[in-house]
Amino acid sequence: MTHLGNYKLVFLGDQAVGKTSIITCFMYGNFDTNYQATIGIDFLSKTMRHEDTTFRLQLWDTAGQERFKSLIPILNSSHNDVDKQSFINASKWIEDVHAERGNQVIIALVGNKTDLVHRRQVSIEEGDTKARELGALFIETSAKAGFNIKPLFCKIASALQGTE
Ligand code: GDP
Ligand code: MG
Repeated sequence: MTHLGNYKLVFLGDQAVGKTSIITCFMYGNFDTNYQATIGIDFLSKTMRHEDTTFRLQLWDTAGQERFKSLIPILNSSHNDVDKQSFINASKWIEDVHAERGNQVIIALVGNKTDLVHRRQVSIEEGDTKARELGALFIETSAKAGFNIKPLFCKIASALQGTE
């Protein structure tokens, strides 16, 4: 058994896209339909196992309003409003991280809320293409359905193994 860590996983993206829900699903296996705005930033520690390697992870949740300093969109919208803007904005988040950290960082573009099948805004191909352009991994998830949450972290773990 190999042990790797301490990796920092930072969740960035617009408000209400499901950052906190993905972390909660991964950590505790549950889902809360009530929207609770994340205040400030904090992290949770988690040890995960992937292919005979244990990873010590720090999951950093963020509030999302650093860039768009307004709570008005979330106050005015129902919690499951989905639009394409968060996908467009994801590019900006990723470009910011590249500008800050160069290529010394693994980035995963996550398309969450796949359970809202009739309200899909971004095709898989579009997500995949965008991720490739931005040098990011790509995966679709649903924190609500518990879909692809573990695989998301495994994908990141595999990429981390490649850097060791
Ligand atoms: P954050 O602001 O990015 O941390 O987003 P939250 O995790 O707080 O989620 C915002 C809202 O979207 C909450 O009401 C969640 O219950 C809901 N939500 C999060 N993930 C999903 C999902 O996969 N599917 C559905 N249908 N709703 C989700
Ligand atoms: Mg949050």
